[in-house]
Amino acid sequence: MPELPEVETVARTLAPQVCDCVIENSHVLRPGSIHSLSCPMRSLHGRRIMGTGRRGKLLLLDLYPVTTPPQAPHCLIMHLRMTGRVMTWPEGTRPGPHTRCIWDLRTPQGTQRRLFFDDTRAFGLVLAAAPDALQRWAFWRQLGPEPLDLSPQEFIAVLANRDARIKAVLLDQKAVAGIGNIYADEGLFRARIAPDRRASSLTGAEAVRLLQSLQEVLRLSIAQCGSSIRDYRDANGDVGAFQNSFAVYGRSGQPCTVCGRILSKTRVAGRSTVFCQHCQR
Ligand SMILES: [Zn+2]
Repeated sequence: MPELPEVETVARTLAPQVCDCVIENSHVLRPGSIHSLSCPMRSLHGRRIMGTGRRGKLLLLDLYPVTTPPQAPHCLIMHLRMTGRVMTWPEGTRPGPHTRCIWDLRTPQGTQRRLFFDDTRAFGLVLAAAPDALQRWAFWRQLGPEPLDLSPQEFIAVLANRDARIKAVLLDQKAVAGIGNIYADEGLFRARIAPDRRASSLTGAEAVRLLQSLQEVLRLSIAQCGSSIRDYRDANGDVGAFQNSFAVYGRSGQPCTVCGRILSKTRVAGRSTVFCQHCQR
């Protein structure tokens, strides 16, 4: 599933393709891919895409009315989940077998483009939100802080009094937003912390080391346009390269890059987890 670096990469690669474009029309090909809290897609027609962004694992497009003075933006939100993919195509491009939604865009040059949301497994969701709608969405309201913005003191406070395993806390989007199985395992390995430790058992120094490690792997991955496992692609259709730098994810049974011992595989928080029993304590 695309995590923080992958969605950040999609937002960055999508921006030059859609910014300043006006949404002229929309086509919902699979109503089940539209979030139940979404306002009708036609409410976005005539709005200009002013920017792309990300919150946790959610891709955001900010939309302003073309004619009236600046006001709070509507937002088009896409949750890519397992296999969601966002790309633009030339005018006239037909939907593919897994295309769930299409928006017709008019570029600043007056030409036409089509923005596609494709999703093979169809777990992804699209939500058109008026400015006040986001606060009615419990998932959004409860999203934890962005890990790249967290200070050590804030991260220590996130972990304090949490009895859950540290990996479970990292995966909990209400605790920290945007981290999934890849970056939890990679961050814990880099910080030399065992994934099944109780979060509240981490010392202040260990918490600081873990935050620094998470931020390092997230930034390194963003710099390499994310990790392409299965079918993740950015908005240019390109694969990321960070999967070539994995120290533990997907490497169970292979030697630890630090100590050379064989990496172990277990389950933590219901998720497959790879770690080094010697290096991570
Ligand atoms: Zn090791």
